[in-house]
Amino acid sequence: MEITERAPAKINLSLDALFQHADGEHEWKMVMTSVDLTDYVELSTTTSRQIKVTTDSGFLPVDQRNLAFQAARLLQRKAGITRGARIHIRKQIPVAAGLGGGSSDAAAVLRGLNRLWQLNWSLADLAHLGLAIDSDVPYCVYSQTALVTGRGDEITLLPKLPPFWVVLAKPNASVSTPSILRSIPYDQQLNHPPIEQMVTAIKQGNYEQILTSMGNTLEAITSQRYPQIKQLRQKMQQFGADAAQMSGSGPTVFGLCAKYSRAQHVFNSMKGFCPEVYLVRPLLNGLN
Ligand code: ATP
Repeated sequence: MEITERAPAKINLSLDALFQHADGEHEWKMVMTSVDLTDYVELSTTTSRQIKVTTDSGFLPVDQRNLAFQAARLLQRKAGITRGARIHIRKQIPVAAGLGGGSSDAAAVLRGLNRLWQLNWSLADLAHLGLAIDSDVPYCVYSQTALVTGRGDEITLLPKLPPFWVVLAKPNASVSTPSILRSIPYDQQLNHPPIEQMVTAIKQGNYEQILTSMGNTLEAITSQRYPQIKQLRQKMQQFGADAAQMSGSGPTVFGLCAKYSRAQHVFNSMKGFCPEVYLVRPLLNGLN
């Protein structure tokens, strides 16, 4: 039997880094949602214990460095499974972009193998396991608008977002997340976005308040190294996006537009400045 799991990209509507734990992990407070730019993860089970990853992307490792491989190995070990898996990743999400592509592939593997190996683990169990792979994996197991706190493991699902469009612009730069996280200046004044206000805005379905509650603590750090991020954000706003900011540790910049005609205009205009531009929408019903 073969199954295909969708692995959607995420964006951070707001992202705050609160402090660093003694073990080096960060304490997060962020609001994430998933959009309809997705990888497809094809999974089948094998009789040997082997985990085999293939992909149509030329940019990805297919050995134990691949987060999808790590997810399969971890679940196999923790669930005491003697079968293996074949995993093929059809990559559509740009790599090292701040869109959580690797984490979403890993989460898709956890959900898919849970079904194929008939483990009956809950999403909460899979999310808990996924934290060992990357801090974005627990969120990606749900891939549904949520407040994410702790080390990335405390997921509070939020109601459906009011309707809007998202333009994603990925500049020609790959950002190393660990390198950005190492340089968060916790001893200095950081820009802390109003996360509680974002949560309230979402609960009230208040698009205007969502716009005014956005913010990403990491944006100042990444844009200092990649000045094109600031330019893209300015262009996005100049072309009419209702608001724009960087996602995750970057470098992708996203713009929100309530109207489709406006989003199309922003999308077409951004294509003149940026090699990779996408016009997407938040997933209406999560993965359902
Ligand atoms: P995040 O915002 O969670 O840090 P990102 O979107 O910036 O993630 P990814 O696309 O997940 O970045 O890739 C980050 C690193 O992970 C890259 O160096 C890439 O080689 C590695 N990686 C391992 N497995 C995958 C995968 N299945 N898809 C994408 N990248 C992967």
